[in-house]
Amino acid sequence: MFAPSGRSGSVGGVLKAPPQRLLLGAGPSPVPDRVLAAMAQPTIGHLDPAFGALMDETAEMLRRTFGTENRATLPLSATGSGGMDALVVNFVEPGDRVGVAVAGLFGERMADALGRAGAEVVRVEAGWGRAVPLERLHEAAGEGLDALVVVHGETSTGMCQPLDGLGEAMHASGGLLLADCVTSLGGQSLSIEDAGIDAAFSGTQKCLNAPPGLAPFTAGERAIAKLEGRAQKPRSWFFDLSLVLGYWNGDSGRAYHHTAPINMVYALHEALELVHEETLAARWERHRVAHESLRRALAPLGIERIAPEGEQLNPLLAVRVPEGVDEAAVRGALLERHGIEISGGLGPFAGRGWRIGVMGIGASPEPQRRLVEALAAELGRDSADSLAALDEGWRTCEHVFAWSSVSSTPA
Ligand SMILES: *Cc1c(COP(=O)(O)O)cnc(C)c1O
Repeated sequence: MFAPSGRSGSVGGVLKAPPQRLLLGAGPSPVPDRVLAAMAQPTIGHLDPAFGALMDETAEMLRRTFGTENRATLPLSATGSGGMDALVVNFVEPGDRVGVAVAGLFGERMADALGRAGAEVVRVEAGWGRAVPLERLHEAAGEGLDALVVVHGETSTGMCQPLDGLGEAMHASGGLLLADCVTSLGGQSLSIEDAGIDAAFSGTQKCLNAPPGLAPFTAGERAIAKLEGRAQKPRSWFFDLSLVLGYWNGDSGRAYHHTAPINMVYALHEALELVHEETLAARWERHRVAHESLRRALAPLGIERIAPEGEQLNPLLAVRVPEGVDEAAVRGALLERHGIEISGGLGPFAGRGWRIGVMGIGASPEPQRRLVEALAAELGRDSADSLAALDEGWRTCEHVFAWSSVSSTPA
């Protein structure tokens, strides 16, 4: 499929076009044409003043997206998982007592990463599919932890973790509140400042609609003070924030640290322009409507959401597969016959759940209509009630993002 073409004699073979896919899984999400076009611009040097200007604009748009004025805000050269490693390696010291909310795969990974960093890990758990009760997190915060880490959007189960008051609770005892905002950033209402989050990371390939490859990252004064007061340097050279910031925020010129993935920064810059053209508030509302409309559209097909009302993650609708339906077969048919990717369930939902992305431009009527029609066809059901429910749901959205305005992929 991706084999180089024109092997015989042609210079500079071009990759054959990959298949047309409508990406409605847990990530990557659909990439708008504007973002792809930005990526295809000529590469310039990572120390070129013109690139510096682009970095400043990108960082400023990221601050607005995170809802923070933190100077230390930048995209790390890594996927979201690299953002997790950076968070842990900079702000957790060996021997620290660190609480972690665990209610799914990404909470589990965080607990693993914390243990590797030498932290004494205090797990605060909930069953997969539920949020960790706030009271339990407040209890843990009251026990004098050095840090508390939460996954704001648990993509493995479609749950959004409430954070109310956790920042204040941690700050009262001098600890840090740290967060995984990979799936929530740009799709679920979030302000780093209002939530009192001291440091957080995200990824480009979920609600921001850029390809995978960068990890937006932000750290506030408390977190930076913790970093500066460390007894030992962070164990990772690449992710040592004080070194990376010498390049991203260099006050007396940018010092070479590593060669930034230039064209990925072009992509993120363009993706963030799309976010702010729409405005964050409108975008959050659109994700809410998209999630709810799709949930209602799937109900007539016997498909129910896993997360209870009030705990749902708008950018990711995780559902139970109807009794008697072969999960993998239907998912495979969606991809093969309809060119639509959705994701399977994980953990206790493996073979019994689907995870449907409602991310960025994917959170619009055209792709959702195509998914509903394809699902109904594969389940041998009539789609009329579902499509009516989808249209009805979207009627409450004051503005809709026209798929055709940002993507030439048929939806
Ligand atoms: C996708 C995801 C990650 C990992 O991001 P990658 O880009 O796949 O490395 C981490 N946390 C959450 C909540 C995610 O959804």
